[in-house]
Amino acid sequence: MARILRINLSSLTAINEEVPDSYRKLGGRGLTSRIMELEVPPDCDPLGVENKLVFAPGILGGTPVPCSGRLSVGAKSPLTKGIKESNTGGAMGQKLARLGIKAIVFEGKAEEPTSIKIDKDGVRFSSASGLAGLGCYAILDKLKSEHGNKMCMACIGPAGDMGLTAAAVLFSTPDFHLRVAARGGLGSVMGSKNLKSLVVDDTGSNQVEIKDPKKMKENVAILSKGVLQNHFVGELRRFGTPAIVMITQTAGALPTKNYSMGQFEGAKSISGEHMEEILKNRPNGQMVHRCMDGCIIHCSNVYTDENGELIVSGIEYETLALVGANCLIGDLDTIARINRHCNDVGVDTMEVGSALAVAMEAGLLPWGDGETALSLVQEIAKGTEKGRMIGSGTKTTGEKLGVRRIPNVKGQALSGYDPRILKGTGVTFATSPMGADHTAGLVLPGPPDPSYNPVASKGQGPKSQFLQRWMAAVDTLGLCMMIGMPIMEAGPGLHLNVIGCVSALTGENLDDEYLDRLGREVLKIERRFNKAAGFGPADDRLPKFFLEESHAPGAPVFDVPESEIDSVHEA
Ligand code: SF4
Repeated sequence: MARILRINLSSLTAINEEVPDSYRKLGGRGLTSRIMELEVPPDCDPLGVENKLVFAPGILGGTPVPCSGRLSVGAKSPLTKGIKESNTGGAMGQKLARLGIKAIVFEGKAEEPTSIKIDKDGVRFSSASGLAGLGCYAILDKLKSEHGNKMCMACIGPAGDMGLTAAAVLFSTPDFHLRVAARGGLGSVMGSKNLKSLVVDDTGSNQVEIKDPKKMKENVAILSKGVLQNHFVGELRRFGTPAIVMITQTAGALPTKNYSMGQFEGAKSISGEHMEEILKNRPNGQMVHRCMDGCIIHCSNVYTDENGELIVSGIEYETLALVGANCLIGDLDTIARINRHCNDVGVDTMEVGSALAVAMEAGLLPWGDGETALSLVQEIAKGTEKGRMIGSGTKTTGEKLGVRRIPNVKGQALSGYDPRILKGTGVTFATSPMGADHTAGLVLPGPPDPSYNPVASKGQGPKSQFLQRWMAAVDTLGLCMMIGMPIMEAGPGLHLNVIGCVSALTGENLDDEYLDRLGREVLKIERRFNKAAGFGPADDRLPKFFLEESHAPGAPVFDVPESEIDSVHEA
């Protein structure tokens, strides 16, 4: 029987609750957002005791549906000051689902840094003093040696301890690499509760009960086959997300030099194609890697040095765009080391990459100076003034350094797509309740709609609206966006297979509109929370420089009418 596990850090107690009706039909992002709406005052201090931190596997978590083990981490964000869901791979989503845990709700604040272990026998609390001062890689090694290789973990690094607003929550993969719930500064919410680490071991747990296994098997087979036929999935299975570098570069949408250009002359040197060349000559390097069991796409990588020592796994497109092109850093080894140090101190590479570019624009360090950028990231762990500034993200860095061009929406750095060239994505960045976020509904040109013009100023609102609903549903189901996008592109056939999987799991008869309805409902919850937190239409705008500056004379600016932007929230 599924349950809500409520952990109070003030009293170091844990109780299992029957799932209330208001939470029953949700999972993942939909559930974290609903819990926020019903249990967290929208005007609370994100780092105060009234805020809660929620971990929730998706509706399909723990099932055989491919790529269905994502985990949603939710809280009121100290970065955006609004509702936040940060989505991650790793092993925890499936382990929690197999333990029958629909969500963990962390409440209160412990008196001292605390570690928690959950297994089939219950919840145990212990002092986290042994993890004090450690980076996330050392924490992972220590927890693995203490708890064995059946466990998975979540932790924060020094950035979360310090309450920095770019702080992330780090998770382990089944083969003990790190994955990151990066966005929104939720690592600092975990730190504000004095929760340092969580270990989950599902040994001896039951499999998730599937009401109609035959129906599930049939739908999974069709879904998997359909996804693997997608044109872009083939690229992802060879180059991973770094394949996107040359796509955005060709489109002129690769953020370059703090969004002053849309193409980077060093793009090839940070591309998936070049990464493949490098890794085939390096021991232990892997161009394909899966961040969780049940993934059929394997879009990640393991990046090693010439001696075969791990630098980081994996380097994703967003990091290449924002730490690489946007800072004019064209060397993969340097980007990999910056990525590793971001993981180790526990910060979002997008937020920090964008902050570094803003700092370069201010003249704090030269453009393209990867070594100085790395040393600034290392200063985060030392807690120096500059380190705290960079670790607090793009907006704080830009404001402190007096920079006019600060690429953020609702306080969160844009992810790696220039909104002047991809205007539908720009509408998503502007209007998503999550702030500018790469998982909120990217609107990209592609074969399913050859007539779509991403640069047109009209017609972007409905595209963004559809994609935002779609991604809200995908995140609620616990699907990875890398499978969510090809399913979306495939059209109604595969959509019905996804609905068939949910029907097979729950035994309900769901109609064809289920996914659309689910996405709408989740977005409505999130908008209600943000409205009550004080957000209005003025917060749904891109920074002015995107409306005023183009990459070159005659090149587009972001000129989607405000009426069309505001219409995204209608219906
Ligand atoms: S497609 Fe990539 S991000 Fe998604 S589950 Fe697989 S490895 Fe992880």
